[in-house]
Amino acid sequence: MKSEQVLADLKRRFPNEPEYHQAVQEVLESIEEVYNQHPEFEKANLIERLCIPDRIFSFRVTWVDDKGNTHTNMGYRIQHCNAIGPYKGGLRLHASVNLSILKFLAFEQTFKNSLTTLPMGGGKGGSDFNPKGKSSAEVMRFCQAFMTELWRHIGPDTDVPAGDIGVGGREVGYFFGMYRKLAHEFTGTFTGKGLTFGGSLIRPEATGYGNVYFLLEMLKTKNIDIKGKKCLVSGSGNVAQYTCEKLIELGAIPVSMSDSSGYIYDPEGITTEKLEYVKELKELYRGRIKEYADTYGCKYVPNARPWGEKGDIALPSATQNEISGEDAEKLVSNGIFAVSEGANMPSTPEAIEMFQKAKILYAPGKAANAGGVSVSGLEMTQNSERLGWSSEQVDEKLKWIMKNIHENCVKYGTEKDGYVNYVKGANIAGFMKVAKAVMAQGIV
Ligand code: NDP
Repeated sequence: MKSEQVLADLKRRFPNEPEYHQAVQEVLESIEEVYNQHPEFEKANLIERLCIPDRIFSFRVTWVDDKGNTHTNMGYRIQHCNAIGPYKGGLRLHASVNLSILKFLAFEQTFKNSLTTLPMGGGKGGSDFNPKGKSSAEVMRFCQAFMTELWRHIGPDTDVPAGDIGVGGREVGYFFGMYRKLAHEFTGTFTGKGLTFGGSLIRPEATGYGNVYFLLEMLKTKNIDIKGKKCLVSGSGNVAQYTCEKLIELGAIPVSMSDSSGYIYDPEGITTEKLEYVKELKELYRGRIKEYADTYGCKYVPNARPWGEKGDIALPSATQNEISGEDAEKLVSNGIFAVSEGANMPSTPEAIEMFQKAKILYAPGKAANAGGVSVSGLEMTQNSERLGWSSEQVDEKLKWIMKNIHENCVKYGTEKDGYVNYVKGANIAGFMKVAKAVMAQGIV
């Protein structure tokens, strides 16, 4: 396999999908050497079979707003690969959603899920519906309309969606309610459900907490204590909030948060009390992060990201490609020594190159944010058992999984000079398991 050739071919067959090409390129480049040690893979054209999704559903979603006007959006579900378990991955509701973004997310999800050690395949879905400024009744009508199409393609052993950008507990509740009605059954077909209907404790916290657990493992390799370290966090949604919560609990100091309108920088540190304010602002009032700066009197910069500010550690937790090469240069020259990704693919290829050249600790989302889907996997297990586990049990398992993912990254990603290339480690570990499973199941 020559990664350049495979990529050129995919670009020709699927043009205008830059995020998908970017995600595939990153994986291909880092697995090429190991892949080529297996001539049987090449003979079975494994690489194309793993880059191209098993199937894609796309459909029209029609819903009515509070004023009686009718709207249409596009709905999608990408079922990427179910060789090691049912398709599994979130639904994203954001105006920017398109096939390229969902294909990149489903591709990444497949190898991330493999890394968790749990039996889950990879998928992703969503819509270009923009939830901003919509009433709860409008969001409910949209979710119900979306589900009238999607329900026939999912199921507890087929495909199990969850949340992502724009999809939190409220939306999962609406999706699940309609699914249950149409399928005429109560099964764990969604994860991230409310606690009263089969949700798991620690699922809302899992991605943020898991990212900090992964960061702790990285810091351990350098004997660095997290206490007192200033952390630049982006985003102010689910992942960012619980990242900050765990950082505060461990004595680190989160100093920034952001949303799509701008960022706040609070050098005094975001405390538990201030974080409670953010949670309420975002989950209840659905307000903008600027209001934090108005309330606590700190710096707010519109239409920008926090990467030019001073800090020790960066935890990007908003969206893809939010750290450019230029941002990475600023981070490195400001003395950042670790970057752990809560978001999916937040660093551009130029930024990754910069981090790795500077030999700082750098964990890609595929490894560092796998805590969310891991606890989703644990939610599926609890639903199958028809039992619920305690927070302590789930948290212990989450810690164990993140430690295990870290060990696998070190095993497959340590270079000759001792530097751990976490991108390579995560890609090889995630890819090889799926590759072996596909090979063992014949040409299907
Ligand atoms: P939320 O919708 O809860 O929060 C997203 C945050 O990112 C918001 O603050 C949002 O601001 C901001 N944001 C979204 N799009 C953009 C953009 N284009 N530019 C700038 N800011 C943006 O989503 P999550 O916290 O769940 O997800 C954040 C990231 O983490 C995503 O990359 C997601 O794929 C990834 N992830 C999430 C998991 C989960 O369990 N939830 C699991 C693994 C990964 P605004 O409200 O203004 O749009």
